[in-house]
Amino acid sequence: MDSEADIREMIERAMELDLAAYAVTDHCECNCWYPKEHYENTELFDYFNYKDDFEASLSAVTELKEKYSDFNLICGTELGQPLADLEIAEKCISDSRLDFVISSVHQIKDEKDFFYINYYHMTTAEINNLLERYFSEVYELCKWGKFDVLGHLTYCLRYMKIRNNITPNMKLFDEIIAESLRTLADKGKGIEINTSGIRQGFGTTFPSLKYIKLFRELGGKIISIGSDAHKVRDLGANIAEGAELAKAGGFNEICYFKKRQPVFIRIN
Ligand SMILES: [Zn+2]
Repeated sequence: MDSEADIREMIERAMELDLAAYAVTDHCECNCWYPKEHYENTELFDYFNYKDDFEASLSAVTELKEKYSDFNLICGTELGQPLADLEIAEKCISDSRLDFVISSVHQIKDEKDFFYINYYHMTTAEINNLLERYFSEVYELCKWGKFDVLGHLTYCLRYMKIRNNITPNMKLFDEIIAESLRTLADKGKGIEINTSGIRQGFGTTFPSLKYIKLFRELGGKIISIGSDAHKVRDLGANIAEGAELAKAGGFNEICYFKKRQPVFIRIN
């Protein structure tokens, strides 16, 4: 729903860039799995029926893995809000075609996706309230932990900063973020370094070096790097910088996933 890029063109660009791997991770928002008619309260949502998208994405990528068998194409999904519908989430992650599951919070309970929220007239207290709810939902997601990497931690900051130049006091969330990262490390789960913030004018990756470092200090071992490309021209953007940040954060290796198992690549 979020990209109109031709998947073959994306793969060919990944090959041209000589990427070690390219994972297709179409959105699968568990709270909008069914067609609209299934839900009572629909005004907070703009898109439904991820059920069909999930199947279409997995079957297309699985087919293309055969066609591009000499390239490292990875069949993934980005599972949004799994805790909003655990039955669906469990069903999705049990699909044997999946190599890789990123899980993210794009939308907190009773709010629109952060993309659609208007931050302009919000007070500091209102902003902090949103962030507090985001980080506590992320913490719950980490405790559930049935994914490979946590997607773009601090996504909540993306649009408030880019559109309205709002920079909240992140110290308020130090404790809950540390608890989330510790939970992931203890479970042997990873985090994604999402490089989209660099090209979109946010200024840093999601998350920034501070949290990458903290994850390492808390025992984290697994890092994946994604450009979050929705267009051919963005594919692989700032990946090298992402790897440098992983290194600066204390990681010697980054990884991609095959059949839900990490494959490590040494960072030079
Ligand atoms: Zn996402």
